Amino acid sequence: MTAVYSLLPEGRHGLLAPLGGGEDIDGYLAVGGYAPLASPDRLLDRIAATGLRGRGGAGFPAAVKLRAVRDAPGPRVVVANGEEGEPGSVKDRWLLRHRPHVVLDGVRLAAAMTGAERGFVYLSDERAEQAVRQALAESAPEVRIDVVRTQHTYVAGEESAVVRAVNGGPALPTAKPPRPFESGVGGAPTLVANVETLARVAVMYSRPDEADSVAGAHLVTLSGAGAAGAALAEVPAGTHLKVLADLCGHGTATAVVLGGMFGGLYGEGWTDLPLDHDRLKEAGGALGCGALHFLRPEDCPVGVAAEATAYLAAQSARQCGVCVSGTGALAATLTAAARGEAGHDSVDKLRRWSQQLPGRGACGLLDAAARIVGSLLAHFPDRIDAHRPSACPACEGAAPEDGRRFTVPVP
Ligand code: SF4
Repeated sequence: MTAVYSLLPEGRHGLLAPLGGGEDIDGYLAVGGYAPLASPDRLLDRIAATGLRGRGGAGFPAAVKLRAVRDAPGPRVVVANGEEGEPGSVKDRWLLRHRPHVVLDGVRLAAAMTGAERGFVYLSDERAEQAVRQALAESAPEVRIDVVRTQHTYVAGEESAVVRAVNGGPALPTAKPPRPFESGVGGAPTLVANVETLARVAVMYSRPDEADSVAGAHLVTLSGAGAAGAALAEVPAGTHLKVLADLCGHGTATAVVLGGMFGGLYGEGWTDLPLDHDRLKEAGGALGCGALHFLRPEDCPVGVAAEATAYLAAQSARQCGVCVSGTGALAATLTAAARGEAGHDSVDKLRRWSQQLPGRGACGLLDAAARIVGSLLAHFPDRIDAHRPSACPACEGAAPEDGRRFTVPVP
């Protein structure tokens, strides 16, 4: 079961159920939704001033992306990306299922700011699709918005895969350049924006007095093994990870996997980390989509890393030879290590691969696998050797490829 919490200060307008449940058109209009936009440039300047960053994973400044599309020759397109590939993240599906109007309002505002004539909502979740189609029927926004449903995979939400799928092709990443803002849907300059990013734009517009706190807040998905639960929470910028672990019953955790699987493992000192893109990057991690998976004292980081890399290897789109061989080698070596079968050169090989593989695939999947391995070696330098000649009890049966350890049910 996944609980839902808000840690925003009393009275602050958040994204989690501010209307006391599901969202209908009357409720959304009553809180200032779909208000006419008199000055798109002024809204874009306000977004830039708040420093709003994209919530899909890379944390790129939202205003920079909006301006890149606005300044490209038209016609232009906006795509709301609701396909969250990380199995440990539920925030985008929750938003689409429960707050479709705030997302559609964000698409409408982004279209106005960029001068786009078409919009799309891209998703894989059936319940989310139903909610968005109903909201579209209720709201009839001024820009045409279509829904595109894709198959759920780890890479289907990568922005070049999004463009390819909306164009009618497979949801697989392509080499870059061109980036979508240069040539996207139908060859038009295209803004691919995460649905939480767009929802924050809509709330900032309807609550200009709260724009800074809206831009700084985050939706986070919290999980861990054992009896403690998973949670979807909205929290202010800079909230310490220890507060988040306590919130979902993982206060005794000894380590955390950051950013879904994208940000790698973090061991001793994780309790001092704040929820902040730059601070986590300085610490060698990444906030990514805001999904955090906490490890209990009895969990083994080698087994957790083996499961993560096995999942990523299974999810490889098998387009780049280096990704197929690289993720396969990382997963096989770690799985052997978790089972107590590591060779004496395993640590050296894993270290070399973790340094050589990043940046060599067409998308971030290979980088995520390499970061998991590099962070395991950095934070738990002796654990692989400690597995020889036999596995620890926690690692028996380690490395299922289905990502079940990390999978969180959508609340
Ligand atoms: S890096 Fe891997 S997952 Fe990404 S496009 Fe290449 S083969 Fe596919």
